[in-house]
Amino acid sequence: MSKEAPVAEGRIHEFVTKSGADTVEVGRKLVNLLAPPQLLILRGDLGTGKTTLVKGIAQALDAAEPDEVTSPTFTLLHEYDGTREGKPVKLFHLDVYRLEGERQLETLGLDELLTPDALVLVEWGEKFKSIKKKSTGEIAITSAGGDARKISVTLKE
Ligand code: ADP
Ligand code: MG
Repeated sequence: MSKEAPVAEGRIHEFVTKSGADTVEVGRKLVNLLAPPQLLILRGDLGTGKTTLVKGIAQALDAAEPDEVTSPTFTLLHEYDGTREGKPVKLFHLDVYRLEGERQLETLGLDELLTPDALVLVEWGEKFKSIKKKSTGEIAITSAGGDARKISVTLKE
């Protein structure tokens, strides 16, 4: 795993990983960047490692062990209680891949989730205009050949 220099204004952070375990480790490190409240879109093709990254984030928050974090593809939403810098954090992990249209999305009550102590991570969130608008940033994962992945964290102002 290597960390590359921030690209712009310290707001974009890039990482390259070579295995799933590497990506879990990047997830653990990322928690430093993610002061709640945050609503982040996890963007990347199927199997690039979005859920794998959340395993590390959950672990660093003492919210769940990596094995306990599974894909919310069918349940839509998983919720964990953690702590960050001594303060409670609500970790919400969503996967909206199967949702069709803003009306179905509304049943999730995304607005209610985004409390001051919340870290909301939404796989496939870029499908929805409303999520893009509310998001405080995104984490994009792209394949870099074989098991290599590039992970870019962009936080809005
Ligand atoms: P997604 O949620 O993006 O669909 P998952 O995290 O569920 O993807 O699955 C990613 C799969 O790819 C896992 O089986 C993981 O072990 C494997 N993998 C291989 N290399 C990497 C890597 N560098 N980063 C993340 N996952 C990787
Ligand atoms: Mg997933």
